[in-house]
Amino acid sequence: MAITARHARYPFLAAAREAVTEAGVELETLVANDEPAVERARERVERALLAGRVDSETPDEWRVNDELLSYPLARILVSLLDSPAAIDKYAAAEAKTAIERLKTDLDSGDELRSTPSASIDRDTLVAELDLETAIQAERDAATAMDDPAWFRVGVGTYLELASGARGDGWRLVNRELVDGTVRVEREELFRLLRTAIRRRVAEGLPFDGLDEDAGIAAELSAQLTDLRRLLSERTRVGEIDFVARELFPPCIENLLQKAEDGIELEGFEQFTLMAFLTGIGMDADEIVAFCAESSLAPAGIRYQTEYLTDDRGTQYPPPSCETLSAYGICHNEDDHWKIAGHPLAYYQERLDAADADLVDWREQAAEG
Ligand code: SF4
Repeated sequence: MAITARHARYPFLAAAREAVTEAGVELETLVANDEPAVERARERVERALLAGRVDSETPDEWRVNDELLSYPLARILVSLLDSPAAIDKYAAAEAKTAIERLKTDLDSGDELRSTPSASIDRDTLVAELDLETAIQAERDAATAMDDPAWFRVGVGTYLELASGARGDGWRLVNRELVDGTVRVEREELFRLLRTAIRRRVAEGLPFDGLDEDAGIAAELSAQLTDLRRLLSERTRVGEIDFVARELFPPCIENLLQKAEDGIELEGFEQFTLMAFLTGIGMDADEIVAFCAESSLAPAGIRYQTEYLTDDRGTQYPPPSCETLSAYGICHNEDDHWKIAGHPLAYYQERLDAADADLVDWREQAAEG
């Protein structure tokens, strides 16, 4: 079986695994030769941890083979990170990207049929996830055969896949139950499939028996060091809950001003800004209001804030001063890096030293 673009776009499918096996590629050799798939694997995990998705920022740089082979390598890297939270985030990011691709495939109509080796249809994906008996489309004369609006999901499968979904609408008591199946709309089905993919990706992770000092794991030590550094920055955010823009560190103020000048922020810049604002206690509505006069779109803000805060209250802090410096975001004005090695720590220091009559921006905004 030849490797196709579909395998690269949906690498967790059994067919993709078979294609890798049949191609006879040795992952050890790829790593030893520092093939492009290795760098793409590192990027894959970095994107998962920072942006909650795994598609490349430079897709034209990679061949189909690099893209596909980066998946098993990324699984090794994420196993070596030895962090359940990282595995969680990684699997969620693979699932999110896959569902976005599925939506694109379903929307692409004729284009889809002309490039069948790159795209997938819903039935195939459902079958690949071993859900074909549990999920059935409702097909009637009024519904387009290719794009049904409603589906029936076996109640056991529904309960399993909807278990982490937020909102009363997902509770079984609020659902229409027919013959042991739950009716779900098309968009809801995407949500359930996302969970199924997330579980498929997480299956078998972390790999057992990887010895960091030997073999493929040892060869990946540079990539691992990079990813560990990112992860170490994902510590618990302190208890800051005060918004005083006049005390923001220069890196954050510069990003805000750039956005207010109408300039689009790069992905990493936006991540840094959102992580800082959530890190000082702001919720999505507050950030949308705070950034109303900027190039930041409310939908993007909402998505990113949701991603940055998980159900357990853990948050991604903004990157450290060292990382921001490496990305050219920090200019270490007045050598204040000496005060604190992290934008949140620096802000906390300034808050501690501020006058008692400092007013939270949220109070001012509420007073109009
Ligand atoms: S030293 Fe840290 S807090 Fe100060 S501008 Fe640079 S990144 Fe921001």
